Amino acid sequence: MNLAEFIIHIESFNANLDVAQIRRAYEFSDMAHAGQKRQSGEPFVEHCLEVAFVLAELHMDSESIVAGLVHDVVEDTEYTLDDLRREFGDEVAELVDGVTKIGAVHFSSYEEQQVEYFRKMLLSMAKDIRVILIKLADRVHNMRTLEHLPPEKRMRIALETRDVYCPLAHRLGIHKLKEELEDLAFKYTEPDVYQDLAERVKEKKAEREAYIAEVVTPIKDVLAKDGIIATVYGRAKHLSSIYRKIKYRKVPFEQIYDLLAIRVVVNSERECYHAMGIIHAMWKPVPERFHDYIATPKPNGYRSLHTTVFGPHNRMVEIQIRTHHMHHAAEAGIAAHWLYKEGRQQMSRDDLQIRWLRDVLDWQKDMTNPSEFLEYLKMDLYSEDIFVYTPNGKLMHLPKGSTPLDFAFLVHTEVGLHCAGSKINGRLQPLSTPLQSGDMVEIITNPNRTPSHDWLKLVKTSYARSKIRRWLKQVGFDQSVKLGRQIVERKLKELRASLPSDDLLQEFAEQLNKKSVDDLFAAIGNGSLTAGGLTALIAPEEKPVEPGFVERALERIRGSKGVRVQGLDNMMFRFGGCCQPVPGEDIVGFITRGRGVTVHNAECHAAIELGNKYPERKIAVSWDAGPRESFVVQLDLIVEDRKNMLRDVTEAIADSDTNVRGAEMFTQDTTARGRFVIEVSNLSHLNRVIDKVRKIKGVISVQRSRRGEDSDADLAQRV
Ligand code: MN
Repeated sequence: MNLAEFIIHIESFNANLDVAQIRRAYEFSDMAHAGQKRQSGEPFVEHCLEVAFVLAELHMDSESIVAGLVHDVVEDTEYTLDDLRREFGDEVAELVDGVTKIGAVHFSSYEEQQVEYFRKMLLSMAKDIRVILIKLADRVHNMRTLEHLPPEKRMRIALETRDVYCPLAHRLGIHKLKEELEDLAFKYTEPDVYQDLAERVKEKKAEREAYIAEVVTPIKDVLAKDGIIATVYGRAKHLSSIYRKIKYRKVPFEQIYDLLAIRVVVNSERECYHAMGIIHAMWKPVPERFHDYIATPKPNGYRSLHTTVFGPHNRMVEIQIRTHHMHHAAEAGIAAHWLYKEGRQQMSRDDLQIRWLRDVLDWQKDMTNPSEFLEYLKMDLYSEDIFVYTPNGKLMHLPKGSTPLDFAFLVHTEVGLHCAGSKINGRLQPLSTPLQSGDMVEIITNPNRTPSHDWLKLVKTSYARSKIRRWLKQVGFDQSVKLGRQIVERKLKELRASLPSDDLLQEFAEQLNKKSVDDLFAAIGNGSLTAGGLTALIAPEEKPVEPGFVERALERIRGSKGVRVQGLDNMMFRFGGCCQPVPGEDIVGFITRGRGVTVHNAECHAAIELGNKYPERKIAVSWDAGPRESFVVQLDLIVEDRKNMLRDVTEAIADSDTNVRGAEMFTQDTTARGRFVIEVSNLSHLNRVIDKVRKIKGVISVQRSRRGEDSDADLAQRV
């Protein structure tokens, strides 16, 4: 095709086109792609012209055709989007940008690739549906010229066409492109089967054409008698649809009578029904093979009357009756929108398709799992649909096999989540009942009713399934949080402690590698974390006191002076948090990972345990402290709860020439507990302090803090 032929044709499709602009776009494309050739050897601009022609055949607007002509400029030449914007304006530039962005996606798995493709297409469609139409037109021409590519590339492109482009063309109602793409994909994905079928259909050509004439002529005559001017013609069905019948209905080729379809195109909807009545009077209709897609359009917006009659020689013939308007809409699908845009002639079919698109975009946001998204989308794209009604007469479409529960979720998520029962055509029926087209479905809800795992088996749509799963996950989480909180509270009660403030809990949660307090409780509730980790942080050591400044003070104050590690100079070491050894006591060291040596009191419970567990890590250490050096020790007291007790204890300690670094006292029933952080130089100094404190009136016990080993029973004995 050359430019002159192209212009003549497109003007016949749409008289309102801006031919001057289209001519300029061709020239720009020709200049930009100068020297580039297709695999077929043709100049590249030929491809652009063909793509634009496919768009023109769909009666698309000037902008789409211009964009079709320059659709590969940004990707394949040195010209940029800004160049296009300058030459042809924003609208064209946006269209080309959309087409370029969909581009090629390559993923390790074919499934991931499909998902990504769909996502990109859906998103670009949301901005401007024409992007997808240009992409489809581009694919049509690439498929027409696929034979010029190497075989492995052919297969990849053909599969992609079959799995992504065909379903989209189908869903957008663009029959004209869908049928061609389907047949071309079939040709390259299953070449042997395709060739065989093509031969057989061709063999029957003469017979078929003779029969078509036998059907078409009487229809024309009989309609004309009643004043209906109709275009009547017959054609062979496309190969992939014949193949589907053989494959899925398991009918041998010889027995497929409806290789052909007769179309009757009239001027008005009224004439459609009138014509059908006349034809049924002439030839007996086959019961149950009549579909009124005018009253109930297909989900992709398709409208027509379909009937099958016993025609001449008693052979079954399918007849489709539609208006010219419906015919164009059926061929061009969503593309038909642009033809009627100027005339403000809105078609309900567009609303259906745009609603579908909006739904899919909505749903895909909810689906984080790509294979689930693909599963849903495929079901929605490929499956046969059924139509059911709400009690208000609203039409809802669902995949075949859907149940009242699917229907409930489609009506509204809340209706689904509290679905308690269903009435089909006025009668109570189980929620598992497969719905049939034409059913009137009523959902009975109960606010107390909520999903269970069994519901997953009752639904067919992955939309409903994903809503149920999400709900179950949330509820499971909420229950775990509740349970985890109870476990922790019970354990704290045993320890005579209670839950700390939210801020502190959040801090502990982070220490235990959880993002939030709820996550922490949920982990305890579902058993993936024990409560001990948290209660040890809240109430270390079974003490009903808040950990806080004392621990931190100890950590800060206790340096690493005064100890020499045998055989190692300048060894990094620290005192264990459990015991606070002072010179005069036997000590022992353990090599730890990353922290050098930890020094413990030799009698420390933790040290004995470590020695048994890791004898190889134990090393001998000895004191090397001068008399003026001091060591921090914590004393735990149990005293009578009386006035001035804190003052008396503090004074006694100070009297024995000892620094007090921190003091706390807590009342508990009739007694009080106290913690004193003091500095001593050695064991005898410490014993002196303890003796002095013990003599204070009302002191019940004094004990060095030894975490993890003391029980209340031996507390008094120790002193
Ligand atoms: Mn292209």
